[in-house]
Amino acid sequence: MKNKQNTYQPNNKKPIVYVLSPSCQIEDLEIGSDYEGVITRVEKYGFFVSLSKSVYGLLRTRNPKEKVGDKIVVKVAEIKPHKGKMDVDLTYSKTRYGNNYETIKVKRNIKRTKIADLSSDNIGRNVAIQGEIIQIQQTSGPTIFTVRDETDVTWVAAFNEPGVRMYPELEVDDVVEILGEVSLHSGKIQIESELIEELEDDEKDNLKNLIADAIDKKAQPEHVEFLVESEILEKLRPKMELAAKTIRKAILDGRSILVRHHWDADGICAGLAVEHAVLPLLREESNDADAEWHFFKRSPSKAPFYELEDVVKDLSFALEDQERHGQKLPLLVLLDNGSTEEDVAALSHSKVFGIESIVVDHHYPGEVENGRALIDNYVDVHVNPYLVDGDSQLTAGALAVELAIMINPDVREKIKHMPAIAAIGDHAECSEVDQYLEIASKEGYDRDELDRVATCVDFESYFLRFMNGRGIMNVLFGLEDNKKQADLLDVLMNESDKRVETQLKAAMPNVETFYFDNGIQLNRLDVEKYAHKFTYPAPGKTTGYVHDKLVQEKGEDQPIMTLANGPDFAVIRATEVIKNDFEFNLNNVITKIQEEIPQAGADGGGHEVAGSLKFVEGLQKEVLTMFIEEVKNLKR
Ligand code: MN
Repeated sequence: MKNKQNTYQPNNKKPIVYVLSPSCQIEDLEIGSDYEGVITRVEKYGFFVSLSKSVYGLLRTRNPKEKVGDKIVVKVAEIKPHKGKMDVDLTYSKTRYGNNYETIKVKRNIKRTKIADLSSDNIGRNVAIQGEIIQIQQTSGPTIFTVRDETDVTWVAAFNEPGVRMYPELEVDDVVEILGEVSLHSGKIQIESELIEELEDDEKDNLKNLIADAIDKKAQPEHVEFLVESEILEKLRPKMELAAKTIRKAILDGRSILVRHHWDADGICAGLAVEHAVLPLLREESNDADAEWHFFKRSPSKAPFYELEDVVKDLSFALEDQERHGQKLPLLVLLDNGSTEEDVAALSHSKVFGIESIVVDHHYPGEVENGRALIDNYVDVHVNPYLVDGDSQLTAGALAVELAIMINPDVREKIKHMPAIAAIGDHAECSEVDQYLEIASKEGYDRDELDRVATCVDFESYFLRFMNGRGIMNVLFGLEDNKKQADLLDVLMNESDKRVETQLKAAMPNVETFYFDNGIQLNRLDVEKYAHKFTYPAPGKTTGYVHDKLVQEKGEDQPIMTLANGPDFAVIRATEVIKNDFEFNLNNVITKIQEEIPQAGADGGGHEVAGSLKFVEGLQKEVLTMFIEEVKNLKR
């Protein structure tokens, strides 16, 4: 027999008594050694002593005085076969009763099985696995421990009385050895544990290192080709791969993922793409049927940036989950938001609490130096075309779809039509967009159809407000039922058209048009006075519709700008010519206003030729006058 017992050198005179752990088998016994046991049956010819859950022996003696339930130390005298089983014969030990002895625990001697090697072939077999606890759930039946080693993840059920938390001393992150039987539970391999014990320190460190290395390797995304040929995307590849790896790592690490995105068609497209990549991985990595709800959250942000109102809500929930449910802090993923100076307040806020964050955005991030913008000081991974000499024509939806395919290549076919919807929604035009449109057209989406989807997404999102509308958006983006998609598009388009018409009826007669010497046509509208309030389309969108209608009359290649304002805000839309030929950048004009009229508290931004501006009401005239002067003075 292969036991460590003999190698033990006592350093005092007390006799040594071994205590078998509950899972020990007959093979773990050593003849001639003393063991502690409990008397379980008394007969005229002797009594039975239980040494572990399944090992017991008989001590023959006439008319024993011992009682059931007594603790006793016995010597193993002989182990011999009897009727196809092994019998253990015991004799009295010198120590017998009392506590004046040294005990040594005997662990069951089974070779460790790696989790990846567990299969349905092992069902019913006893195994030993070692790993790190990544989640503990108390069900109405057993306590379920999710355990990971360097090869895979499995689930361990510890049974006692239903609903009673087993091993209350164990916590997430503890490294343990589990002895138990391999079983099958709703189609997944599970261990029914006999014993869970923490590992010794050196074993623990060793295993932790192995696990960390393995996760790092597993999180590394495969090399995948982008959907389109693009120099900008290739330049962004290292950042995108790092973002994909960080997201995959969070999934493997049992961290939740919190996605925040802009609430327009582009932002929602980005959020949905990442959601469709992450959820299957979450389902695979967890036996928690609700994993996709517990470990993934997606919410739209109403402002075109990550604002304090959002971050305080997210932080409060994260810190509460950490304290109440022992959850790790989430990974924050901002899509179509997060790159600009306006995001600094919220992101520096979350950084204080050690929240790791990823930003995938195409909004102008301010000056870029050595591939870094201001926000890079506050986020862990920043993907933005401006960092590599690109611009906002490559939409966040496109970037996020490409990222989603890196995270989970299986979703490629399902989501490849989505960047085209984002591009139409954001009025983007570039060679990548042409290629995305081509992909979508092969999937049955022509330009009109894409426009309908983008419009209906915007329409629905106006009414969803702070909800993510997962089920509805899946249908609108064609990710589920195509018949339902067609029906829903019809219903929403009809409603949207009606409401846009109502707004245009009020707005169009009140548009004033000016022609400047530099060739620019400026359309002005008081959108607060000449549009219906608190309804769809809101002032920003209404301005867009007015602008599009005026551009249709003159042609997209003309320098046309529309400036609609309320008492303390303005919305700006302009044709691409004004950016390309006149070097107009809304964000720069806002900076200039901030410098020259500081008391106006001007703020805002967006893309070069589409965005908004806020200011204090009392300085409306000064701000708008300066803005118009800037446009007047632009040179081709
Ligand atoms: Mn966008």
